[in-house]
Amino acid sequence: MEITLIVIFTLLGAAVGSFLNVCIDRLPAGKSLVSPPSFCDACQRPLLLKDLIPLFSFLWLHRRCRYCGAPLPWRVFLVEASTAALFGILCWHYGLTLQFGITIFYFCVFIVILVIDLKHQLILNKIVYPVAVVALLLDVLAPQPEMLTLAPNAFLGMPDIAARTVSGIAGGVTGFILLLLPAIIFRGGMGMGDVKMAALIGLAVGFPRVFVAVFGAIVLGGFLAVFLVLTRLRKRKDAIPFGPYLSLATMVTMVFGNQLLNWYLRLFS
Ligand SMILES: [Zn+2]
Repeated sequence: MEITLIVIFTLLGAAVGSFLNVCIDRLPAGKSLVSPPSFCDACQRPLLLKDLIPLFSFLWLHRRCRYCGAPLPWRVFLVEASTAALFGILCWHYGLTLQFGITIFYFCVFIVILVIDLKHQLILNKIVYPVAVVALLLDVLAPQPEMLTLAPNAFLGMPDIAARTVSGIAGGVTGFILLLLPAIIFRGGMGMGDVKMAALIGLAVGFPRVFVAVFGAIVLGGFLAVFLVLTRLRKRKDAIPFGPYLSLATMVTMVFGNQLLNWYLRLFS
């Protein structure tokens, strides 16, 4: 039974990944997500259902448009494959729970933010603002024990709904402040997009897990920057956007944030 469920959600993830690719292509250009139906960017021909089977069409057609032979970016395949894999893994990790639903929602959002920031060095307000509203609603309405497991006493014995709301808002404010300072000090390096995104992350993961996400992103960014400079894939002066690191660190935090925080706190006890 469980294996069937994981397979079903992996396939569903591939289909959702295909939709995330549409979001990645169209949101920065301000185009509608639903109309027109998918078409080839090069020859403008509308794509048929058989051209749109996630993962398989890409491989079957040797990553080219069936009609004009224009190459498709690897990104299309990578987004579909990683969304599929993450859906499967999260299903295995959480089972069919509310936490599973909430986590895949956020993962989809952060995949889209990650790829758009890589492509355009841009974190779109029209993604961050509405998702921040959803995140606040989820904090208030959805029981999310992980937001409270770490410090049940820190919230002064409040009822869960109040504790989650406080945790979310405190997380949002903390994220905002943590990145606002570097954004002001190092002008040009970090933008207000990153600051607003950090506030969204705080709302999504709560306090104190927002620290894991933000510092995780800094550590990840530091290691990868050194690696890219050492391997000469990038020059020292090339700007590297911060949004992708924030996205990756947030996804890890959503699943393992409490364990990471516990581990870190034990280092000092
Ligand atoms: Zn074409």
